[in-house]
Amino acid sequence: MDKTEKNGCTVYPITVSTPYDVGYVNMYLMEEKGNLTLIDAGMDSDECWNAFHLTLSQNGYSLSDLSQIWITHNHQDHIGLVNRITARREIPVYAHRESIPRLKRDPEFLSLRIRFFEKLYRSMGCGAAGDQHILKLQEAVRRNEQFKIHAEIIPLSDSEYLGNVQVIEVPGHAPDHIAFWDAQRQWLFAGDHLLKTISSNAFIEPDLEGNRKFTLVEYTRSLNRCLSLHADTVFPGHGELIDDPKDLIERRLTRIGQKAEKIREMIQSGGSTAYELAQSYYPTKYIHVFAPVMSEIIGLLDYLEMNDRIKKILKNGVWHYELQTS
Ligand SMILES: [Zn+2]
Repeated sequence: MDKTEKNGCTVYPITVSTPYDVGYVNMYLMEEKGNLTLIDAGMDSDECWNAFHLTLSQNGYSLSDLSQIWITHNHQDHIGLVNRITARREIPVYAHRESIPRLKRDPEFLSLRIRFFEKLYRSMGCGAAGDQHILKLQEAVRRNEQFKIHAEIIPLSDSEYLGNVQVIEVPGHAPDHIAFWDAQRQWLFAGDHLLKTISSNAFIEPDLEGNRKFTLVEYTRSLNRCLSLHADTVFPGHGELIDDPKDLIERRLTRIGQKAEKIREMIQSGGSTAYELAQSYYPTKYIHVFAPVMSEIIGLLDYLEMNDRIKKILKNGVWHYELQTS
């Protein structure tokens, strides 16, 4: 991708590979009045580190010119270089307050998160498949200890300003997800909230107290909020820049409605628990990509429930979904 310039501000995109299905990830170096900000920090890889340095040097900068890091959300492909950078240069790192226990890999929060999923999968009728996934989560806690962020993180909340850029909370893809809104230039740095060629997953996650949020419902609210900004250019976490995002946001919202309708029809023809519906909706995929599939199905059920299209009844500790008739 080429650099983007407007009213004295220049954005240099840096794109590197990830081991994930999503393929490549973007980070952005933004320069205004000699201030250099890194928005998201890519992968913790030599490829990413080298690409970052190459972009700096090709444009006449070095690491000593970098003044701050802004993080859109806690996922590993967006925070990779934070430790490498802050080990060499102490600069402020900003993220949403909900990011902090996740980025710090706080043991208390991580065990609360595992208990949350244990309870969730049981109540959604996942049985042995849920138990198996919990073992994977426990293993991931041990494996991911290495990704803990060492630097102090400065917490951000909605509507706060960093210079003339406003923080916009856009929960959905992640509970700590924020976007950075430059109203003067109509630029939105959107992380994974809006992507051009793939729809973002609205992952089910607990909040810091361990409560379940209606993630997909929150995601649709965040999309509507973005729509109201009338951005000219969206700088996404993956894929190309998005010009005139209105059409794309409307398409994403329509698609969510269509998928929810399909789930409703499946309930009508006999599907009852979230796990049964996941098996009918994704007959093969539900085994290999268990967590994203369960997130999506539970999200669609929440969406239908919030719109009074279905209701749920607890039987022996498991939620059963039925059509809302009245
Ligand atoms: Zn993400």
